[in-house]
Amino acid sequence: DGMTIVELAKRTGEHVAALQDILINVGESVGSEFDPLSIDIAELIAMEVGASVKRIHTSEGAQILPRPPVVTVMGHVDHGKTSLLDALRQTSVAAKEAGGITQHLGAFVVSMPSGASITFLDTPGHAAFSAMRARGAAVTDIVVLVVAADDGVMPQTLEAVAHAKAANVPIVVAVNKCDKPAANAERVKIQLASEGLLLEEMGGDIQVVEVSAIKKTGLDNLEEALLLQAELMNLKSRVDGPAQAYVVEARLDKGRGPLATAIVKAGTLVCGQHVVVGSEWGRIRAIRDMMGTLTERATPAMPVEIEGLKGLPMAGDDIIVVQSEERARMLSAGRKKKFEKDRLLKISDGAEALKELEEVPERAEMPIIVKGDVQGTVQAVTDALRTLNSPQVFVNVVHVGVGPVSQSDLDLAQACRACIVGFNVKSPPSSISLAATQANIKILMHRVIYHLLEDIGKMIVEKAPGTS
Ligand code: GDP
Repeated sequence: DGMTIVELAKRTGEHVAALQDILINVGESVGSEFDPLSIDIAELIAMEVGASVKRIHTSEGAQILPRPPVVTVMGHVDHGKTSLLDALRQTSVAAKEAGGITQHLGAFVVSMPSGASITFLDTPGHAAFSAMRARGAAVTDIVVLVVAADDGVMPQTLEAVAHAKAANVPIVVAVNKCDKPAANAERVKIQLASEGLLLEEMGGDIQVVEVSAIKKTGLDNLEEALLLQAELMNLKSRVDGPAQAYVVEARLDKGRGPLATAIVKAGTLVCGQHVVVGSEWGRIRAIRDMMGTLTERATPAMPVEIEGLKGLPMAGDDIIVVQSEERARMLSAGRKKKFEKDRLLKISDGAEALKELEEVPERAEMPIIVKGDVQGTVQAVTDALRTLNSPQVFVNVVHVGVGPVSQSDLDLAQACRACIVGFNVKSPPSSISLAATQANIKILMHRVIYHLLEDIGKMIVEKAPGTS
């Protein structure tokens, strides 16, 4: 937060005026160039000029607390990843209370009797891991590398190692199927060492645990190893403030609409918040924990299911909290446009595909200038007008100000074909009214918001027939 348009111009190499035009286009009022921009607006502008943004929340003064590790299980096919996850899920105190039945939601938490907990991503394999990473979702803290004791190191074992290394994520090795007569854990260790993995018992720092997913042995050792690894990493997160989270899995429920399993990286996700998820948006209507219990908030590393999105996000999508529905819509629309552009650029040489993009019908735009008696009125009117926004019509408040409608308002209105709303202000002098009529500029004078909205509503219907 807090970047000014001047700073943003410097970082993106664009002119301040160009960025201000974008601001106007997205319906934000242009203040002084030294006013701090909100992070949402900064992202939107950056997206428009093709720059990328990274949200960094300052944790100054915020509470930073240790958090559970988030773990992904990887390894060669048939080495027991799924079996191991099933076995681990059943070790949880919560699972025991629920009779071991937990729905598959993309993640689960193992709560230890000591009070510590571990979050497991429930989608085994490196395909999911790298898909998430490709989308910039660095959710995994630790990788459990499953190697079958009878089979030893195989091609996908090495692939998994490569993925973990590339992501700079530490590995804990689980030598599985140790119950089998043909099991040879020593051989596995030697193979891993010869692949360059520095195992603990050879003086390195990679822990190796012998387990059997079927016989459920060694699971507590594995969990302890993970907690030890987490401790070494000193995993901590900001707890207060806006959440920064990622989608782990998403599905469409007939009754409840799009549902996303999310893991919060930092901050707290709170029910009722407006969010942008990838290029989708919505307002969080319900948060459920992994037991399906409704909860008000989600804290770091806690997997939750969120309800209230307008569309289905994808695994790896980021979740950010924005101030209002208007912002959520705007950011989502901006991202959709950008993602689509990126996609088209990727699938073709660009030129023709971009033309296709241009031809998608744009929202009808309704530029409005708002004048009011005091700042509070202006803000209230602006907010009210924006509630009229729809997929068909974009109510674009291009300028706001305090005082009666003036000549400069007229000039601006003429320049951007806007109509002018005078709310709770004196009627303009007859010279202004006359000039407005001549220039075909509508001036709406109102003292009641409801009446104003009714009038504008009528104009919207004229502009985009078919809206209601
Ligand atoms: P994935 O492909 O890595 O997810 O492997 P699965 O979990 O599907 O397991 C593959 C096969 O190995 C299944 O037939 C499991 O029953 C078996 N298996 C998994 N873990 C163990 C184990 O600890 N001991 C034995 N004996 N068999 C196991």
